Amino acid sequence: MAEQKGRTEIAELGEFGLIDELTKNFKSACKSTIVGIGDDAAVIEASKDTAIVLSSDTMLEGIDFDLTYFPPKHLGYKAVTKGISDIAAMNAKAEQITLSLGISSKISVEVLRDFYAGVEFACREAEVDLVGGDTTASMTGFVINITAVGRAKKDRIVRRSGAKPNDLICLTGNLGAAFMGLRLLEREKRVLAGTDQQPRFEGYEYLLERYLKPRARYDIVESLGEEKLVPTSMIDLTDGLASDVLQICKASHCGARIYLERIPFAKQTSALAEEMHIDPVVAALNGGEDYELLFTVPLAERERIVNIGCIDIIGHITAENTGAYLVTPDGGEIRLKAQGFKESEER
Ligand code: ADP
Ligand code: MG
Repeated sequence: MAEQKGRTEIAELGEFGLIDELTKNFKSACKSTIVGIGDDAAVIEASKDTAIVLSSDTMLEGIDFDLTYFPPKHLGYKAVTKGISDIAAMNAKAEQITLSLGISSKISVEVLRDFYAGVEFACREAEVDLVGGDTTASMTGFVINITAVGRAKKDRIVRRSGAKPNDLICLTGNLGAAFMGLRLLEREKRVLAGTDQQPRFEGYEYLLERYLKPRARYDIVESLGEEKLVPTSMIDLTDGLASDVLQICKASHCGARIYLERIPFAKQTSALAEEMHIDPVVAALNGGEDYELLFTVPLAERERIVNIGCIDIIGHITAENTGAYLVTPDGGEIRLKAQGFKESEER
């Protein structure tokens, strides 16, 4: 390799800084590009009223998953979830996926069959078609890339950028469960290394399911449609509440207040967090992989949000110059900070 003059480490920029740096000179050349880089998915004009929504995600063995405890069938299901969750985050319905694999010699046909059984199950459940992909050899472990395509009426598409001061911040489901599921799997792997004992997961099955086989919240897209409600902004929660709220704030040029006591946790999340001396709030803020939806609606829509059910209002949007903070029950404010670039799950 030619000798380089200056050298900037990727860690100095972080994941989002790196993407900004690499893509800053790209200008849109096609009129059909409605939303480009910077949202959960790109939006492309399809007809006068409708748009295509397009997203791509990659999962790497050793970084995003560990095959020693990840059942291949669940991994296939999760890959589909990763793709279609970004489509749901634009308030669109996923319709097609393509799946490209880099396969190492360690992986057998049986493992791949199981993986595809999971893909098929997820596709059937979400009414999505697998329409293509690519298959290559990999020297560095199993590589999965999923591209998802969806469709929506243009006036129903929701970006990260439309939140306004006083909007309510709404959250589906609960947080931190996938993070605690991963911690449990890592603990059992460590404890049982070199023994022939079976791992002990009793009482924590929900956490394992949330990490290994998360379901995308396309049901919420349907519910919002039935309520004729279009959020002002939306994102799917994959990087942790703190990072994802900050993405909405950055795109919408606003601040936010999240109320700590309103962050919802499942019982198993709190129980395992206590057992492992982890603050569940930290799991929610920094854990990620929840695949829940975070969205904002005008204050006047509170009742319709309550009507949908299973949605918590966890805070509100503020003016940009007030910053983004977590508010503690005693009124203290802690600045929301995004976690650094995720180098590996095995931190
Ligand atoms: P998400 O977590 O919702 O999948 P990401 O954080 O991965 O989104 O990406 C943020 C935005 O940056 C998206 O619009 C994505 O398409 C874009 N992006 C990510 N990596 C690249 C890349 N290498 N080149 C161009 N765009 C990228
Ligand atoms: Mg996303």
